[in-house]
Amino acid sequence: MNPIATKVAVIGTGISGAVCASTLAKNGFSVTVFESGRGPGGRMSRRREIAEDGRELYFDHGAPYFSTTNADVEEMIRGWEARGFVAEWKQNFGSFDFITKRFVDFEKEGLNKKYVGIPGMNSICRALCQEHGIESKFGVTVGSLEWLQNNDSWSLKDSNGQDLGQFNGVVASDKSTFSQRFTQMTRKPPPLDLKLIPGLANMNKEVPVRPCFALMLAFENPLSSIPVRGFSFENSNVLSRAFCESSKPGRSTSSERWVLHSTEQYAESIIARAGLQKPSDEALSEIAEELFREFQKTGLDVYVPFFKRAHRWGSAFPAASIAGDEKCIWDGTKKLAICGDFCVSPNVEGAILSGLTAASIFSETFSRL
Ligand SMILES: Cc1cc2nc3c(=O)[nH]c(=O)nc-3n(C[C@H](O)[C@H](O)[C@H](O)COP(=O)(O)OP(=O)(O)OC[C@H]3O[C@@H](n4cnc5c(N)ncnc54)[C@H](O)[C@@H]3O)c2cc1C
Repeated sequence: MNPIATKVAVIGTGISGAVCASTLAKNGFSVTVFESGRGPGGRMSRRREIAEDGRELYFDHGAPYFSTTNADVEEMIRGWEARGFVAEWKQNFGSFDFITKRFVDFEKEGLNKKYVGIPGMNSICRALCQEHGIESKFGVTVGSLEWLQNNDSWSLKDSNGQDLGQFNGVVASDKSTFSQRFTQMTRKPPPLDLKLIPGLANMNKEVPVRPCFALMLAFENPLSSIPVRGFSFENSNVLSRAFCESSKPGRSTSSERWVLHSTEQYAESIIARAGLQKPSDEALSEIAEELFREFQKTGLDVYVPFFKRAHRWGSAFPAASIAGDEKCIWDGTKKLAICGDFCVSPNVEGAILSGLTAASIFSETFSRL
């Protein structure tokens, strides 16, 4: 089958969906991406906030950076660096021990290369979704997928039942498309009923997830008592990591901005108390206070920020990988691929590998038709 005539829908523009869409478009497919959010990025999103005095502030409130040891991913990153939307974050990193109140490990600069999107983590997904051969539809939640036996294609509808078109193949890049999580969020059944796909009927549908709260902070002046620009916390039940946002390449340095991550244990305890529904602004303010107080308990000279806000990631990290060495789930009869970090490993590298694999299976399959 001629790829140009082959229409593929990619659901989700996190890094797995964006890499998959970009690779499919390069291989000549006609690609439409659908994304529930207002823009691309998923868990590599960039958050825009306005401080009380009207100042605009940006935070990578999801993944702060990513690393890789895979040659294919490295080659891809070289290309992104050349196009100017990725750069290495060259700073000092370490870890802080809550018991001794000291920085205990310092990582040598450049030892484990850390990459960031420029000017925000979402820039990578944004650039990929703008490539030739891709039509991007943001603010559109795919609500149902129906296999049309008679013409060997998928019919997609949004969450209000509006027609989104017919496609020869579909890539679903979020576990919520087939799990109860979609139902918890929307009170509707998940768009993809795996029972209708014989090859996938026995697949593990409920991928366990680990939550996390992110705390965004902006200070007028540098926190000069902190000798590194990113660190993990040891022996804290509340905080796990901290990153100085404004030390990343391509960011504004007009204020010093930090993003702190809670431990999974802390996030679980909040969710156990408050449930999975979206937290109110009041609840988020209390959480922000609690996380900030823990930051102050380090004994580091952390003065009062002019901006402080918490964000909840209910499914920050998958706690299982469901595709093993295959790296994505594939149904050749119905031309359906499922990809994402939950197929490989709970990080950007795993998501990229999964998206790349889904695209290459599509290309091989359609080149044989
Ligand atoms: C706080 C935090 C810290 C992290 N730290 C790191 C780190 O240091 N290093 C690292 O490598 N990784 C880190 N990660 C993990 C990394 O962000 C993820 O592994 C990666 O971004 C996952 O990409 P993905 O494409 O698989 O999924 P996602 O980014 O979740 O993308 C899925 C997309 O699908 C969309 N979608 C879902 N359902 C529908 C629907 N029905 N219709 C339309 N769109 C839909 C969603 O809106 C979303 O945009 C972190 C994540 C978080 C949250």
